[in-house]
Amino acid sequence: MSGKFLLFVSLCIFFSCTERPAKNVGRFGCGAVPEFNSDSAFRYTGDQVSFGPRVPGTASHDSCASYLVRRLAGFGFATTVQRTTVRLFDGTPIGISNIVGSFGTGNANRILLCAHWDSRPYADRDPDPASRGKAIDGANDGAGSCGVLLEIARQVGLCGPSVGVDILFFDAEDWGEVNGDFAAGHYGTWCMGSDYWAGHPHTENYNAAFGILLDMVSGVDARFYREYFSMEYAPHVVDKVWRAARAAGYGRYFPDVLGGAIEDDHLPVNRRLGIPCIDIIQYDPGSATGFGDFWHTLDDDMEHVSVETMKAVGQTVLQVIYDEE
Ligand SMILES: [Zn+2]
Repeated sequence: MSGKFLLFVSLCIFFSCTERPAKNVGRFGCGAVPEFNSDSAFRYTGDQVSFGPRVPGTASHDSCASYLVRRLAGFGFATTVQRTTVRLFDGTPIGISNIVGSFGTGNANRILLCAHWDSRPYADRDPDPASRGKAIDGANDGAGSCGVLLEIARQVGLCGPSVGVDILFFDAEDWGEVNGDFAAGHYGTWCMGSDYWAGHPHTENYNAAFGILLDMVSGVDARFYREYFSMEYAPHVVDKVWRAARAAGYGRYFPDVLGGAIEDDHLPVNRRLGIPCIDIIQYDPGSATGFGDFWHTLDDDMEHVSVETMKAVGQTVLQVIYDEE
């Protein structure tokens, strides 16, 4: 029994509870904002990594897709798997799957939470040239963000918020060309799953009040700057999330500083669907790439996953969800 629940019981004695109970207090054990369990998030991350690299077209990828669907369904989410074929930068067709979990499907007021679940097929940024052709574990770059979202899904399933929640696991974010930079405004060989979904949402006339994309949210000592495109398309959502981080006690992870412009899955959501969507992504202005040292190297493994960072991000996003009316 939580302390908050005890407080509610004692208030009932004095006020006889004729007032409408405070939000979310009506269900046993539900506080105003649930407590994000980073051990669960870490476990869900390790589970994904244990299948092997989640490269589309492999058995590891298929196994992990089933796992993600099973977990979402187990937490009370209605699931949809959106399968399609896309073409890689070299023209090769590849089957991909976007995985959708929806909670409170009858609720018109919805929040979209998303992350990519595939992992990069090659460690093209690895310092060792002999390793650059190998697929990465993608513990931070993929699995950690999905691990945080699965724990959020578990908490939402236990204590339903006032808003509906859609969790989107996008496929094929990370199959961009080796060392390939983005042509201006073109993310065709990256972000393929999100680009497809934004053009073909899983339900007709899909809409959400706003979206939050998580990408690389489990790095050691990670910091999340106000990403450039998020500030361009959805500054009010950035403000809301950065405020929630402070309210949750994790403001130090979210400096009030403009970060880099990052082509990521939030762009198709903003540009094709018009849903204001921000990107919470690790940014390091002092590093050569702008990202953590593990980025697109074989070091992106479970050894470099931080439960503290996952807690900071997970608790912040829960704060946002449960602050909504
Ligand atoms: Zn990546």
